[in-house]
Amino acid sequence: MTVTKQDIADTLARIPLPDALATEGKNTLADRLEWVATCDAYTSLKFHLPGLEDKNSMQAIAAAARDAIAAKLQDAGTPLQSLTVEFVDKPGAVIHTARFSAGKQQQTPAPNTQRPAPGAQRPTPQSESSGLPGVKFAIAVGAGKGGVGKSTIAVNLAVGLARKGHAVGLMDGDIYGPSLPTMLALHSEEQQVHQGKLQPFFVHGIKAVTIGKLVDPEKPLIWRGPMAHGAFKQLAEQTEWGELDYLIIDLPPGTGDVPLTMAQTLRLTGAVVVCTPQRVAQDDAVRAARMFQQLGIDVLGVVENMSYFIGDDKKEYDIFGRGGAEQMAQRLGLPYLGAVPINMALRANSDTGDASANFDPDTAGGDALPRSLERLVANLESQVALASLGQGTKRPTLKIS
Ligand code: ADP
Repeated sequence: MTVTKQDIADTLARIPLPDALATEGKNTLADRLEWVATCDAYTSLKFHLPGLEDKNSMQAIAAAARDAIAAKLQDAGTPLQSLTVEFVDKPGAVIHTARFSAGKQQQTPAPNTQRPAPGAQRPTPQSESSGLPGVKFAIAVGAGKGGVGKSTIAVNLAVGLARKGHAVGLMDGDIYGPSLPTMLALHSEEQQVHQGKLQPFFVHGIKAVTIGKLVDPEKPLIWRGPMAHGAFKQLAEQTEWGELDYLIIDLPPGTGDVPLTMAQTLRLTGAVVVCTPQRVAQDDAVRAARMFQQLGIDVLGVVENMSYFIGDDKKEYDIFGRGGAEQMAQRLGLPYLGAVPINMALRANSDTGDASANFDPDTAGGDALPRSLERLVANLESQVALASLGQGTKRPTLKIS
């Protein structure tokens, strides 16, 4: 049985607030619930409790919520895997976070200020068209060369889709240079395995796995073709994804073994190609787009990253030749998903693993970045809707020449 957001709210409505925090008409935890996301046994909550400043009391309230939700999930036959409880102040800044995972509890200080996500209801996948049980749309993010921001775009697309209420997984398929441990601040987290299945990390509202949590972070990752094939396949197939609307796959740069394995293993909805505006980057992106097409994978669109820079004077500077990737998309007859500016906050938030901060103008250096990311997400949703209309569920026939 699936536990919905409403079930979680109903469960919290049975937990009374301490007298000191209760007010007329607001006397249960549900009355102070700002936001809830739940996907299988992974849940995250935000409470705003005016007057509550003591961290121990917050921890006790989080534990009460955990006990009630764990019992609800247990009844539904999906024992609790992960619960994140955030306490926010009036504007929505996180003041305390309590994390619980199966058999484990952690407290972490407030990581950032986050704008509460819109309360859109997660659509239940109608079909499993990706080739992975429970996963509706699988989308690869590729680039012709490294350093153009492919992982950055993959992370922000995933988080942006989750903020719209979708159930989203993110797989770090960049097995030669995994970035997710840093971009999602997973360094101090432990990889959990349950009944031989990797349990994804639940961060920023998404489920994520990365080869970076399975190998020595300091060792060079040298994979021969068959090993690369095995590593990718295992990450995709041996992860407990649960029900997902979108699985975003961050591919290694270039046109090597991994995309080939991916095409053989999964039925992709399509691929996104990330490119910077310069001519040399476009040439490589064209090769990446052609590779996807040769593998029978639709290109859902091109993203122009590092498109322009907004100076302190608020002027926009076209450092790399803004519009180059858009022109390339036009030339190849591919959809254009949009541009992302060069933005210091984006780089800093990536280094600290705080992708949610990119969606809040206060922590994203203004509203240009959040707006551009939201536009990308909306355009991707439209392209996926179009692609899924035209696609059957047949695995593509590979034509390699
Ligand atoms: P790739 O996956 O293509 O190798 P990354 O996503 O790892 O590239 O990005 C490379 C570096 O560039 C990272 O430090 C990232 O934070 C930074 N970066 C990416 N896009 C932007 C941007 N639009 N503005 C500022 N920094 C960016």
